[in-house]
Amino acid sequence: MKILVVEDDLFSQTVLKDALERGGHTVVLAGNGRDALELCEQEHFPVIITDWVMPEMDGLVFCRALRAKPSEDYSFILLLTSLDKKNELIAGLEAGADEYLVKPVHEVELTARLKVARRILDLETSLKQLALHDQLTGAYNRGYLDRQLSKEIQRSWRYGHPLSVVMCDIDHFKAVNDRFGHQAGDLVLKEFVARINRSIRFENDWVARYGGEEFVIVLPETPPAGCQLVAERIRNIIAGTAVPVPGAAVEVTVSFGAITIENTTRIEEMTMDAILGKADECLYRAKETGRNRVVAVQF
Ligand code: GH3
Ligand code: MG
Ligand code: MG
Ligand code: MG
Repeated sequence: MKILVVEDDLFSQTVLKDALERGGHTVVLAGNGRDALELCEQEHFPVIITDWVMPEMDGLVFCRALRAKPSEDYSFILLLTSLDKKNELIAGLEAGADEYLVKPVHEVELTARLKVARRILDLETSLKQLALHDQLTGAYNRGYLDRQLSKEIQRSWRYGHPLSVVMCDIDHFKAVNDRFGHQAGDLVLKEFVARINRSIRFENDWVARYGGEEFVIVLPETPPAGCQLVAERIRNIIAGTAVPVPGAAVEVTVSFGAITIENTTRIEEMTMDAILGKADECLYRAKETGRNRVVAVQF
């Protein structure tokens, strides 16, 4: 793990650093809370070990300041103290520390506390996975779509970069369920998302489940031509290869409605609802004009 050690005493710093590195961890050092806070602005540390008494900013103020900041990822904070009095420990925990270590640090105890940290961090990862993803397909869920798409729209507007949004809906999916069963239908949904994920750039692009068999693909910094290309690629990959399910191969097609916003789009028109609404209109036209096709517009 990457561990930030915040300690003003150089000897104590070295002892901790050596012990942590022996345990296979990567260590970053800070001499006081203020410097530590600055480092935390730049990168996320899953574990922070901080001294209590330090110049400039002490461990308690540092804990409070760090916890007050909104953050996507959790940091497990271990407070180092030679003051093993109950009320002071309580103050530390109330300030946002998760655990404490009494100085001088006992290496075996340090290792045990880090295992606790690992458990809490793993739990946080799986909770986040549950909170942000659709459990059947692994795509992002509607809550994530609402939050993240608004951010992408703002970013696109701020930097004047294009943003493409593709709404897609499996054709005659009710018939798939009727003919092959609901479980086969579920497998088709999973495979659809797997194929989408293989067709987009994993660093920037993402897909969310909008409703039953409807998905939204978000392509940041993608102009109309690129968006058309991606949608056509996915359309082909679905229509071209049947989805294997127990005892059958299910042939499905998908219809797409795509919209690209560019720097010519007026800001007041760039609401999430308006963008999804336009994509939905395009999708409707794709359905009306024969399905298994992409209808794309620019805002
Ligand atoms: P169209 O081409 O017009 O989109 O026709 P359609 O049959 O796909 O559309 P319709 O909206 O009538 O049916 C959607 C179907 O999707 C009905 C519903 O049972 C099915 N569905 C929604 N969610 C799930 C799911 O999680 N699993 C399965 N197996 N089916 C689902
Ligand atoms: Mg100190
Ligand atoms: Mg539908
Ligand atoms: Mg459908």
